[in-house]
Amino acid sequence: MNEQQLSKRLEKVVSYIPIGSKIADIGSDHAYLPCYAVQKGQVAFAIAGEVVEGPFQSATKQVKSLELTKEIAVRKGDGLAVIELEDAIDVIVIAGMGGALIRSILEAGSARLVGVKRLILQPNIAAHQLREWAEINQWALVSEAILREDNKTYEILVLEPSEEVVVYSDGERLLGPFLMREKSLVFQTKWEHELSNWKGIQAKIDAGNTKNKAKLAELDAKIRTIEDVLR
Ligand code: SAM
Repeated sequence: MNEQQLSKRLEKVVSYIPIGSKIADIGSDHAYLPCYAVQKGQVAFAIAGEVVEGPFQSATKQVKSLELTKEIAVRKGDGLAVIELEDAIDVIVIAGMGGALIRSILEAGSARLVGVKRLILQPNIAAHQLREWAEINQWALVSEAILREDNKTYEILVLEPSEEVVVYSDGERLLGPFLMREKSLVFQTKWEHELSNWKGIQAKIDAGNTKNKAKLAELDAKIRTIEDVLR
């Protein structure tokens, strides 16, 4: 992967950026995504945000070597703290981290979401954390994607601010409203695998021990949710 040849996963993420947007890519080691999007002419200005020194240096080097320092500001900082109000960022991308970490970045930086028109989030695990965040903070899913690359399954969530209250069912929150309607082969394979994992865990928990009651009830509910969707 480099700034000219992105992974299938990041290329799909880029496809959700409206042309001419000003973007912030948070967690931007090597700044591949912003460099690619700027070179393609899809993005007018980008911030590449990184909290760790090594990846920050790699991103800085990459942007300099491509002579994109006017179009891409590489900034070191934690999460959304690298965004200033005067940057007038339209789209925030956070990709390649766990859902819980992405959620904590959004929660810590909620003040920097003012004026942002779209979030493109690509959690490696626990996408339900982001759908739950969206409900609490009134952001609505406008699209979702699921894809397989290098033997891993990735989900992409595209969110926009909502005028209305956002509520998802248990199934929608866990599996994704768009993804469960589309029911692609990648989706079915992922959830059949999860189902068999959770059934395995369920079988190993001692149902006779009252301490396990709540855990078993939670597992049972998840299993039934998935079975309902896959049926
Ligand atoms: N976004 C790229 C991608 O999807 O390929 C890089 C993913 S890499 C696994 C995650 C990057 O996020 C790392 O470089 C890490 O240092 C950075 N990161 C983690 N927590 C962060 C935070 N709170 N703020 C900014 N960057 C963060």
